[in-house]
Amino acid sequence: MRMLATIAVLLVVSTSVTPRGQVPDSSKFRVVDLSHAYGPSTVFWPTAETKFKLEKLASGKTPAGYFYSANTFCTPEHGGTHLDAPVHFSEKGRTADQVPLEQLVAQAVVIDVTARANADRDYRATRDDVLQFEKAHGMIAKGTIVLLRTGWSRHWPNAKAYLGDDTPGDASKLSFPSYGVDAARLLVEERGVAALGVDTASIDYGRSTDFDVHRIAAARNVPGFENLTNLDLLPSRGALVVALPMKIEGGSGGPLRAIAILP
Ligand SMILES: [Zn+2]
Repeated sequence: MRMLATIAVLLVVSTSVTPRGQVPDSSKFRVVDLSHAYGPSTVFWPTAETKFKLEKLASGKTPAGYFYSANTFCTPEHGGTHLDAPVHFSEKGRTADQVPLEQLVAQAVVIDVTARANADRDYRATRDDVLQFEKAHGMIAKGTIVLLRTGWSRHWPNAKAYLGDDTPGDASKLSFPSYGVDAARLLVEERGVAALGVDTASIDYGRSTDFDVHRIAAARNVPGFENLTNLDLLPSRGALVVALPMKIEGGSGGPLRAIAILP
């Protein structure tokens, strides 16, 4: 009897959560890849002691006659298209495995500062850039994933052009655009956004030494998505972003496969 009641409850719950006919029709939307591939040319922070490594374990015909291949890989958490978990810059912040899915799967807005970044490679998006965006496209709702488009992914994987300097072991001469402090405060503290993404190597601009934007975001458990690509293919609003990082227990970040679903 108890079991029947349980089944009845489950049926009610499942039918109300996924009513028939509401499975999205994949022929009616387009999917855009927002991630770079991991490989030998993946760009890492100049001070990273190791990069992405893929080692072959097997590749070829087995004694039984079928083909089989498998590899092992090793990578720093912060390189390529990756997640910055809040704990990256906040001791009590969430780790990679603890970031709620609601902050990884959400409606996105794309703030385009390409022209300004082209004129000044140390450009930091301002509060006014956000307000101008809102004037044109409406207020940014709580829980939105914000993507800052600087156009920088066109330099990938040329580390010197992308980071401004590629001297190994030296991060003191980096130069690339990103969020400014006042824009980050507005988005994180006033708008309550889900995440901050960018098509450069960091949610702080290259010349930053105190990583203020990282700290502002981390303090509110807002994750960062870095080294994104193809932001030029997204509308200013209306895309659904699905940004799923490798679920590393206790991780401060990790490789991120991000996509956008467009109607
Ligand atoms: Zn990072």
